Amino acid sequence: MTQLTDTRNSTTKPPTTETILYIEDDPGSQLLVKRALSFAGYNVIVASRGLEGIDMAIKHLPDLILTDINLPDLSGRELTTRLRSDSRFRTTPIVALTALSQAGEREKALAAGATGYLTKPVDIDKLPKQMERFMKGEKESVSQEALVTAHQAYNQEVVTRLESKVRELEENNAELRRLDKIKDDFIQLTAHELRTPLTLMYGYSRLLQESSISKQLRDSSPELQTVINGMVSSIERMSGVINEILIVSRVATGRVELSLGPTNLAEVVERVVGEYAEAAKSRKMHISFNKAQWPVNMRADAELLRLAISNVVGNAIKYTPDNGIINMVARTSGNTVLVTIQDTGVGIAKDDQQRIFDRFYTTNKTQLHSTSKTNFGGGGLGLGLAICRGIIEAHGGRIWVESDGRDDIKLPGSTFYIDLPMQAHGTVRTGA
Ligand code: ADP
Repeated sequence: MTQLTDTRNSTTKPPTTETILYIEDDPGSQLLVKRALSFAGYNVIVASRGLEGIDMAIKHLPDLILTDINLPDLSGRELTTRLRSDSRFRTTPIVALTALSQAGEREKALAAGATGYLTKPVDIDKLPKQMERFMKGEKESVSQEALVTAHQAYNQEVVTRLESKVRELEENNAELRRLDKIKDDFIQLTAHELRTPLTLMYGYSRLLQESSISKQLRDSSPELQTVINGMVSSIERMSGVINEILIVSRVATGRVELSLGPTNLAEVVERVVGEYAEAAKSRKMHISFNKAQWPVNMRADAELLRLAISNVVGNAIKYTPDNGIINMVARTSGNTVLVTIQDTGVGIAKDDQQRIFDRFYTTNKTQLHSTSKTNFGGGGLGLGLAICRGIIEAHGGRIWVESDGRDDIKLPGSTFYIDLPMQAHGTVRTGA
């Protein structure tokens, strides 16, 4: 049995500055209640879902919260319990509103922390006064015995709902994994299928480039030379992209298999620097690298390490305007080596610094996508760093970036760190 403990019957007009948050998913009720309370002088804000209601409550700190019990996500009771756990809402009147008139519903709402309980349909004429009374301190109460029973019923309800939500999430998760695998298999299969004819095309185009008949033809027609060279370099670029996709799908499915052997990191990095020498020259960039500093006796997969470092250096070139500097340093300590690749480029926003290592994550606008590997701003598919991470982690190492943020004018630069064991162990499998 419930009763009102404060029966003050105020006759003063509702103040105009007080805010009521109304949480309700039914548009008809939203309109009706909002109109009635606004007309009575309250500032009314409305949320349609429980989580949205919590966010709005935290943002606006309303003077009263009126919440429907049956919401699409959290129930009004759960929302009330959640808000009561926040010291900012310990004393805020929270009034539950429901069409349910089953026995025990009122007690359950109070057990969850509600101040009061109203049933639908709302009496629009009485509602403003009811709100005013709750704001002035009126509270509903129930006997201790009824409260204990309601608490038990409420706890059971929450646990049952939690269990069904966990089951639902697990099912969704399994389905997402299944779809993700289908997508990975599809990407891998497509890349394989494309690689075979592309390899043939590459061979034919090289033949065309080298053959004596075509040499004669090209001598008589410089245009033909340009066409053939353009064809070869486009095919090379296409194979590069397909190889990236194949490696990244191996990274994703944990199939980076290392072919470990004696590795001279100084030479590996020297090759990478050589690879970009022409691009750096044409962009008036300086790549600083002191070979003597770099370890020569490592155990690693030299080819995959070259690919990883090449991706980071390539990015440093792509995301640094002309006249920039790229500084490559290695510091050996004990059985690890810390490689640092620092540039004077546009930098990376704090929020992106983790995500850039995810597959297909690029901060470039896709509509501005360029296929150049070395032009300023030239972008790829957002695979380069995912590949790097897969390779470095397969070696038992770690890769991360530090930057003061992205600024295309001030150029704060980025520093990539690669921490590698001097002696990588066995064939390590990794997942991304
Ligand atoms: P992409 O093919 O887009 O270059 P990556 O995986 O290599 O893909 O890089 C992901 C994103 O990380 C890039 O789109 C770029 O925004 C950012 N990034 C990587 N390296 C740098 C860098 N040195 N300076 C600034 N941004 C960088």
